[in-house]
Amino acid sequence: MPPESTYTTDEERWNAIVTKDTDATSVFLYAVSTTNIYCRPGCRSRLPLRRNVQFYEVPPGSALCRIPGLQEMPPQQRGRQ
Ligand SMILES: [Zn+2]
Repeated sequence: MPPESTYTTDEERWNAIVTKDTDATSVFLYAVSTTNIYCRPGCRSRLPLRRNVQFYEVPPGSALCRIPGLQEMPPQQRGRQ
C-alpha cells in the first residue's frame, strides 16, 4: 500500500507540521524565517505562521540533516512527546 502522503508538495508538508506527523521527520525539516531556527515535523512547540515556514528535504538515508546558517531547536523547546 502506498503511503498516504509522500510530502512532496508544500501543502503536504505544511499539513504534516499542523498534524504533528512524526512519519515526516525523516523526509523533511522546516525552518522558521523569523527565528532562524529549524525543526522537525512532529515538534510540539507552537505552530509557526505558514508564511514564515520554509521546507528542506532530508537526503534519503541520512537520519539527521543540518541547514547551514540556521540553528536546530534546542530539545527543551520541543516539548514532550
Ligand atoms: Zn521545534
